[in-house]
Amino acid sequence: MKNKPNIKYIAFDADDTLWDNEPFYRALEHVFNEIMLDKMTPEESSAELFKTEIANLPLFGYGAKAYTLSILETALRLSNDTLPAASVRKILDAGKQLTDSPLVLLDSVEEVLKALAPKYKLILATKGDLLDQERKLKKSRLEKYFHHIEIMSDKQTGDYKKLFQHLDIEANEFLMIGNSMRSDIFPVVELGGFAIHVPYHTTWKHEKMDDVGLPDDRFMEIDTLLNIPKECHWI
Ligand SMILES: [Mg+2]
Repeated sequence: MKNKPNIKYIAFDADDTLWDNEPFYRALEHVFNEIMLDKMTPEESSAELFKTEIANLPLFGYGAKAYTLSILETALRLSNDTLPAASVRKILDAGKQLTDSPLVLLDSVEEVLKALAPKYKLILATKGDLLDQERKLKKSRLEKYFHHIEIMSDKQTGDYKKLFQHLDIEANEFLMIGNSMRSDIFPVVELGGFAIHVPYHTTWKHEKMDDVGLPDDRFMEIDTLLNIPKECHWI
């Protein structure tokens, strides 16, 4: 058996890894689909929304505000700028509700953080809107377990590199845990770190990627956070 790696830092993604997130976005999308129903099917309006979201990423980044703006933009485009003010209002109200969603921790989150915190430096590494994520973190009451909180505008290799430099971390002492193959797994493994994919039941299309080509000595999938301490042989 190979030597156990010398992992010192364990980083957690937040949305859909520590707490529910995607279902609230889907609820807002549903409001939009309903408004567009007289013009097209929900699948069609969702496909149009996805195009707008991807086009807006460089401008707005991730998070609830960006999402609400993309929905408004798509609704205006699909209605040839004839979207009734009442529908604009409905979208804005639902968008506000999204930023005020209840914070629901996923199963056993606190138990796992409590078990790992004495042995490793825990990091929270999440992307999205700063205010949005700060609010959620506060509601979660998990802040005390983390050595460092990093709210990133994106989670690509360059963003992780900056985090490593900032905290003086070597890639091979870093383990990332998250639900997104694109944001949490691929960039970290590419830099020489370790990654555990913990799938969530719903994933935004943009975050999905097949695990083809990932080395199994630095990548694994575990079905729930709770099983990480006993199933992950790196820690
Ligand atoms: Mg996530």
